[in-house]
Amino acid sequence: MAQIILLGTGSAWSGPDRENTFMLVRGESTNVLIDCGGSPTQRLAQVGVKPSEIDHIILTHNHPDHIYGFPLLLMNAWMAGRKTPLHVYGLKATIRSARRMLSALDFRLLPNFMKIKYHVVVPNSVTTLPPIGEFDIAVAPTTHFVPTLALRFTERATGKVFAYSSDTAPSRNVVDIARGANIFLHEATMLDTSSEGHSSAVEAGQEAAAAQVGELVLVHVPPDVRPTKWRAAAKENFHGKVVVAKDFDVIEF
Ligand SMILES: [Zn+2]
Ligand SMILES: [Zn+2]
Repeated sequence: MAQIILLGTGSAWSGPDRENTFMLVRGESTNVLIDCGGSPTQRLAQVGVKPSEIDHIILTHNHPDHIYGFPLLLMNAWMAGRKTPLHVYGLKATIRSARRMLSALDFRLLPNFMKIKYHVVVPNSVTTLPPIGEFDIAVAPTTHFVPTLALRFTERATGKVFAYSSDTAPSRNVVDIARGANIFLHEATMLDTSSEGHSSAVEAGQEAAAAQVGELVLVHVPPDVRPTKWRAAAKENFHGKVVVAKDFDVIEF
């Protein structure tokens, strides 16, 4: 059984109890990190995972709250003695930003630094990544300020699916990629107001209902989130289970 471990659940403006939204997907044999918020090593330590045990990183987009921990994670993986290549996936602009961060910080001066294999994802309505461990992964572009990917993970052995909206306003692509998912992580930056590039809890509920998912988990919530209100707002349109995620929640799928 695979797990999603939420290493952060906050919006771009983190709060005292929430790191920016990023997460670890743990399979039997594979660790996949989705985005890389601050203090990745400290967050991973709390769930008993070393930076060197991350084999694959998917970066959804190049906003700082989603990628600013990337150089530190890599440096700590190198310090922990990682020798094998690390795979990094993202859209062209995101990969460019990731590479620029490393060059701005003179990573070329680190001796025997492990190889980073970059996989540039070409945006389409739905694109399939090369299989990663026990997962088949599809991605699709969202409606955000910069090119951004929503994700769909299918555990091959069980057929169980989890989908993640990443940052987005309501989006047909996101509904399509989440269709029928057991677990749907959707951003809910606001309660009930619409805004360019992001979604409210009400809109997350609409998207979950349209995609006919099993369970909705709200992430990317603001520091002043009131979970009861966010849940009720999502439930206006979605009648399945709704959870307002907290940092270090573990979701099995
Ligand atoms: Zn964000
Ligand atoms: Zn963003």
